[in-house]
Amino acid sequence: MQGGLSALPIGTILPFPLEVILIAALGLILGSFATALSYRGQRGIAWYGCGDRSFCPHCHHVLSILDLLPLLSWLFLRGRCRHCRAHISRFYPLTETVLMALCLLYYFVYGLSDPGAVVPIFFALPFLWALVVIDLRTKTLPDDLVLAVLILGGFRLVSTAFAHETLLAPLFSAMAGAVVFGGISWAAGMLVSKVTGKAALGFGDVKFFAVAGLWLGLSFLAWFCIIAGVSGLVLGVIWRWLTGEERFPFGPALIFSFCSILAFGGSLSP
Ligand SMILES: [Zn+2]
Repeated sequence: MQGGLSALPIGTILPFPLEVILIAALGLILGSFATALSYRGQRGIAWYGCGDRSFCPHCHHVLSILDLLPLLSWLFLRGRCRHCRAHISRFYPLTETVLMALCLLYYFVYGLSDPGAVVPIFFALPFLWALVVIDLRTKTLPDDLVLAVLILGGFRLVSTAFAHETLLAPLFSAMAGAVVFGGISWAAGMLVSKVTGKAALGFGDVKFFAVAGLWLGLSFLAWFCIIAGVSGLVLGVIWRWLTGEERFPFGPALIFSFCSILAFGGSLSP
């Protein structure tokens, strides 16, 4: 069963159109979660635990299920709160649409035949999105969100290792990846700081490097650094042009590199 299962093409667990609809719906729901994560993360409100219902930031009305249907609520209510008619930012439907597109992208790359490889990616996406938004707004990568990506990476590692019946090699590659990615980025950051006399790489970035190392394994270190470096350079130029600031958030470049390798780096299975 195990060997045969991973060889199945896309669409064989359920009929193909049904899988596409389900993944799109999952993407929208995760997109809605991503907006909540970014809203709360920027304000230092915990996203875990229960009891805190979503509310309108203008009139503070607690939102019902009708207000919270991803994308659909925004479209039906024409971008306004049902209670106070205040405008709801386009950022919410945009986030939901982007997350839906990303889920579909990873579905088309991985299919559902090896759920252990792709499901943790789906669930990591809202945290990665929130990290990008929060880093752009506050220049920090909150530990709890980075930790969530780390835990999902651990799940992915164990589930793919069991599916391929080889635990030791991928475990070693992941551990080595985490240590080397984290160590190299920390050393490089220290060196650049010493040479230029300015803070080069925040500790949040170093932690994300280590988490990326765990997900991707040692073999993708060079690619990860190249893509992050080039996209960081582009981001730095745009940032300086827009804000006039020299110091720019590096997290979005790291996350772009991470997501690109997950999508286009070929099979990461041992
Ligand atoms: Zn309102």
